[in-house]
Amino acid sequence: MSLLRKNIAEMAGYVPGFQPEDEASWLKLNTNENPYPPSPKVVEAILAEVGAGGGNLRKYPDAASRLARRAAADLYGFDPSWVILANGSDELLNNLIRAFAGEGEEVGYVHPSYSYYATLAEIQGARIRTFGLTEDFRIADFPERYEGKIFFLTTPNAPLGFAFPLAYIEEIAGRCAGALVVDEAYVDFAEVNALELVKRYENVIVTRTFSKSYSLAGMRIGLAIARPQVISALDKIRDHYHLDRLAQAAAGAALADQAYLALTVGRIRATRDRFSAELRNIGYQVIPSSANFVFASPPDRNGRRVYDALFSRKILVRHFSDPLLAHGLRISIGTDEEMEQTLGALREIG
Ligand code: PMP
Repeated sequence: MSLLRKNIAEMAGYVPGFQPEDEASWLKLNTNENPYPPSPKVVEAILAEVGAGGGNLRKYPDAASRLARRAAADLYGFDPSWVILANGSDELLNNLIRAFAGEGEEVGYVHPSYSYYATLAEIQGARIRTFGLTEDFRIADFPERYEGKIFFLTTPNAPLGFAFPLAYIEEIAGRCAGALVVDEAYVDFAEVNALELVKRYENVIVTRTFSKSYSLAGMRIGLAIARPQVISALDKIRDHYHLDRLAQAAAGAALADQAYLALTVGRIRATRDRFSAELRNIGYQVIPSSANFVFASPPDRNGRRVYDALFSRKILVRHFSDPLLAHGLRISIGTDEEMEQTLGALREIG
C-alpha cells in the first residue's frame, strides 16, 4: 500500500532529452541548446556577482529579482509590476497551473506541443484536455468558448517549429474563458510575438526562456509578462529565493546586450534555413521552422531508424515515439560546421 497521493504514484513523470555523461564526445542536437556561448558581458556579470573569493555567495539573492525585472520591463515596454523572472520557464509553467487550475479542473494544450504541461497538470491533480492540429496548423475543434481554467499555446510550436500568426493567437485569446499562456520559449527565432496581447487581453500571459536564444540553459532563467494580479499570484506561490544571485546578474546582463542576441540569433536562423534547404535536397520533408530546431522526416518516414544510425555516430537528435511524431526527428540547429557534419551523416545513412 502506498502512502503517496494516487496521481503521484501513478504518473509517469517527464523524461527530458537524453543527457550523455561524456557530453563533450557527442554532437548534441537533441535539447535545442544554443551552439554559441552567452554574451561575454553575461560572463563578466556572473564573475562580478561571485565577488572576490566568492564573498557574495554567502548572501541570499534579492527575493524579488528587482534589477532583472526592471531590465526586462524597460526592454519590453511594461511596468515592472507586469514582469516576473523565475528558475527556468518550467517554474513559471508549474506555478501558473497551480495558480489557475485546482484539483479536478481543466488544463488544455495542443498536442503535439510541450508534454511537460501534462506532467505539471498531473501533479496538481487537474484534468487534461488536448487539442490536435489541422493540416494547416490551426487547433482542431477548438470551441467558440473554451471553458478550461488555463490553456497553453506554444508558439513557435515545439517540436514542430511552426508559429501561429498573431491574429490567430488573438482569436484564441478571445475564445478562452480562462487564462491563455502563450509559451514563447523559441520566439526570438521567429517573426512575431504576442506581447501586445498582454496589454489588450487580461487573460493573456506570455512566458519566455533564457535557455535558447540567450544561451543560458545552464543558468535556469525564465520570464513571464502578465497583468499585475497574475504576477502577484505567482509571487505568492513561488519559493522566496527561487532565482539565485548569479542567475539574476546573468539575466540583467543578457537583456542589456541585445546586439549580441541579434547577432547569434541571426546566425542560427541563417544556418537553420540553409540546413532545411539541404535536407529537402536529400529528400527529407521539413516543416518551415520559426525556432532553433527543425522537424524533418526522412523519405521512408522511419524516424527511429535514422535516430539510431545518428546515435551510433555520436550525433544526438530527438525522436518521439508518439505515433503523430514517430515518422520524423527534431534536430536542434548548431553551428554551420555541426550541421554540415550532420548532413554528411544523413547522406551516408540514406
Ligand atoms: N517551453 C517549451 C516549449 C520548451 O521547449 C522548453 C524547454 N524544453 C521550456 C518551455 C522550458 O524552458 P526552461 O529551460 O526555461 O525551463
